[in-house]
Parts: sequence; structure tokens; C-alpha cells
Amino acid sequence: MRSWKLGNAFGIGIYVHWTFLLLVGFVAYKDYQAGGTGLFGVVTLGLVFTCVVLHELGHALMARHFGIPTRDITLYPIGGVARLERMSERPLEEFWIAIAGPAVNVAIIALVAVPLFLSVYFFEGNPNAWADLRANRLLVELIGVNAVLVLFNMLPAFPMDGGRVFRALLVPYLGRLRATEIAAMLGTVFAVLFVVAAVVFMNPILILIAIFGRFAGQQELAAVRYAEYHRQMPPFHALPVHGEVLDVVPVSPHADEPAMRMSEPRAWIIWGEGRPLTTYWIE
Ligand SMILES: [Zn+2]
Repeated sequence: MRSWKLGNAFGIGIYVHWTFLLLVGFVAYKDYQAGGTGLFGVVTLGLVFTCVVLHELGHALMARHFGIPTRDITLYPIGGVARLERMSERPLEEFWIAIAGPAVNVAIIALVAVPLFLSVYFFEGNPNAWADLRANRLLVELIGVNAVLVLFNMLPAFPMDGGRVFRALLVPYLGRLRATEIAAMLGTVFAVLFVVAAVVFMNPILILIAIFGRFAGQQELAAVRYAEYHRQMPPFHALPVHGEVLDVVPVSPHADEPAMRMSEPRAWIIWGEGRPLTTYWIE
């Protein structure tokens, strides 16, 4: 799908997907409908997505710190995506990479909003500093946008940041597979809640987040399942059949045990609990 390059940051390409234009149109229309010119909505949107890019850069630079490069950062109507070269399998690294995004938004609030408030309050001696600042609509937007980005992303809805943090905390106790299963299950619960919220608040973006979030979550769960079973494979000679393992594939999308396809003779081995359970011979 078509994306346009906005520029580079820290050697990482920043792109915007064409569907983003639909969001610009939607926001301008909403603003216009609410009695505005449409301009303030678009300016706010620019502000939101500047903060989103900084958020994604937080993930990307923390990943780089752990030796994981980022291919690119792309803006979609549902948010930004930093495409990392690979996911860290160390829970502590994943924890820091996930939390680095929302931490950037906390930093923006702390660096921009708090000093401004304090300067008005203390240096100008204005006891109504907060009321005065509220008159500065753009500043309030900046605080609000970043607060929402932190709260929304930190919901324990895998594969969102909070869900990743949640999984990282479970991994040392339950292992990577079980932790991902539980996080993905909670992610599905949140996807349903997002759909309900989308209907209540008449916000189509939430439905898209629910659909794509759930899809990405299930994809990642499948990848972890595959990797874990692969890792559990015993040495080759322990297998009850001869020949070369061609690949390990799930029997069905919902099967807990994948099967191994052998070259000679051709057989399917149902794999479970780290050992072969059943062998099917293919004539
Ligand atoms: Zn994030």
C-alpha cells in the first residue's frame, strides 16, 4: 500500500500511509460540524501525530539500545507503528522497549506543561495560573493529547504497549507461551470493549483499532507458539522416524500441537509437551 515519506529521524524513515488522509478529512469535518472552520481540528491532529511519532521514536531508540534496528515508522489513521527488525525475547528488554513510548509522552507533559504552569504560577505570581493556562487552548490540547496517549497505550490490551508490559511481567512466572496466551486473551476482551466504546462514542477509529489490534495480537501469538514448539524440539535422534525434518506446521489454526513434516519416510508427527505424541504415515 502507498505511503509517503515525511523525513528521517535518528536515521529512521518516517512515513505516512495514504489512508491517513481519510482521518484528516474526518477530523476537519467533525470540527466544521461542531461550528469550527475545520482548521483547529487539523492543527490538533498534527499535534497528536507529532506526539505519536515521538512516542514511536521512544520505542525505536530503546530497541536500538538493545541492538534491535527499526525498519521504519509509519503513521496510520489508528496510530503509529514502529517496525522493529525483530521482537526481543528477553522480558526485561521487551518491558523497557514497550514502556519507552508512553514514557516519551510523560516526558512531554513534564517538560512542556509543568514548567509553563510553574513559571506562570511562581514567576508571574498569578494565583489563577491554571485558569489562565486553560485559556491557551493549544497547550491544554498538548497536555490532554499526551495524557490520553499514555492512558490508552498503557491499557493491558496486547499487542498495545500496556499489553506488552503485562506479558513481560508474566513471562518469568508462566513462560513466554502461556504469558502470550493470557495477554492475547485479555487483548481480545479489550477489543470487544473498544467496539462497545466505538458504538457508544460513535468513533469508527476505535473499531479499526479493535480489529487490527486483535488481528496483530493473534498473529503474534501464532508466531510465539511456533517458536516455542520449535525450541522444545528434542535432538534429532530422539525422533521415532528417520529422515530430515522439513518443517513444523500447526495441524489447524486452533490446534495446540503442531505437526512435523518429514522428508523420508513421509510422516506427520503430532507434537506436544516437548515430545512426539502420535505419528501419521503418509503413503
Ligand atoms: Zn507505543
